Amino acid sequence: MKYLTEFRDGEVARRIARDIRRVASGRWRIMEVCGGQTHSILRNGIDQLLPEGIELIHGPGCPVCVTPVEKIDRALAIASLPGVIFCSFGDMLRVPGSREDLLAVESRGADVRVVYSPLDAVELARRNPGRQVVFFAVGFETTAPADAMAVHLASREGLANFSMLVSHVLVPPALAAIMDSPASRVHAFLAAGHVCSVMGYWQYAPLAERYRVPIVVTGFEPLDVLDGIRRAVRQLEEGRAFVENAYARVVTREGNRHAQALLERVFEPTDRAWRGIGVIPASGWRLSPAYRDFDAEARFDVGAIEARESGVCRAGDVLRGIIKPSQCEAFGGACTPRTPLGATMVSSEGACAAYYHYGRLAGARSSGEDG
Ligand code: SF4
Repeated sequence: MKYLTEFRDGEVARRIARDIRRVASGRWRIMEVCGGQTHSILRNGIDQLLPEGIELIHGPGCPVCVTPVEKIDRALAIASLPGVIFCSFGDMLRVPGSREDLLAVESRGADVRVVYSPLDAVELARRNPGRQVVFFAVGFETTAPADAMAVHLASREGLANFSMLVSHVLVPPALAAIMDSPASRVHAFLAAGHVCSVMGYWQYAPLAERYRVPIVVTGFEPLDVLDGIRRAVRQLEEGRAFVENAYARVVTREGNRHAQALLERVFEPTDRAWRGIGVIPASGWRLSPAYRDFDAEARFDVGAIEARESGVCRAGDVLRGIIKPSQCEAFGGACTPRTPLGATMVSSEGACAAYYHYGRLAGARSSGEDG
């Protein structure tokens, strides 16, 4: 427990906040990439400790939120097929597709199961040789190694009744897309520490250089986040832009080479649509040719999918930091965690859910849409 409490010390937090106040003279917008960091910021009131000129904006780092609606609709269609056991993390069950969610499909008799690991799905395939077991593989570079291991094991064991609906996304191309957008409001990024623990941070250096944007690798405890902000502000005030590792107890420049080798073997890069954002080139992974037999999209022909987004939900603008959740007209009215219109209100890492749960109801400390 000591390992956690030492990163949650209120007195140290106030000291770092004073440091930030002393250093900050400009108006800076810092985007935390990861939804876990967004929740840490709001849960601990970090946004309210900062000086007036520092605004935190929330990024696209919620894997459930960015899974494209077309993929959700495909998941619903596959889960509805007879003989299929469809496995997913719990967060995905209430994410709305074009018309309904996995819970609705389950209520009509589909066998939808919540698993805690893709290896649980492999075990289900072993125990149910007469059924087809499909795992919905969503997430960033953090969850991908376990998914790669599951496919690799299924392949080694010749489990012909296991497959994966893959919707993996990658952080660096998303950062580039955000910076390339004319609507970009970002002056600095807090990069997601757990993604970097797998991939390292060497691939962020060209981004920092190309866009002249500081990128600080940051953890998830309150003091981690505050320290990340302090380092980002320091770079901005000094007119510098480089990659800084503020999470050295977990992250190295090279990352986990074993995990990367497995990922390279099982996956290959592909263009990927991000929900509410659109297609970002080379921003996802799909199964490599050696493992294509385990691709659920190829195994199950569910016909053409005509995906349709909500005309009201502005999750795409939330995920790119263009508006704060509370600036969406539906926030807290038509859209609540009980009646979600978008994935960002459903997911445990979603920014809309964070604003709702932690009471940021009135666009607190937000300039939003001010260019
Ligand atoms: S509050 Fe609801 S409708 Fe608005 S952006 Fe968030 S999820 Fe979408």
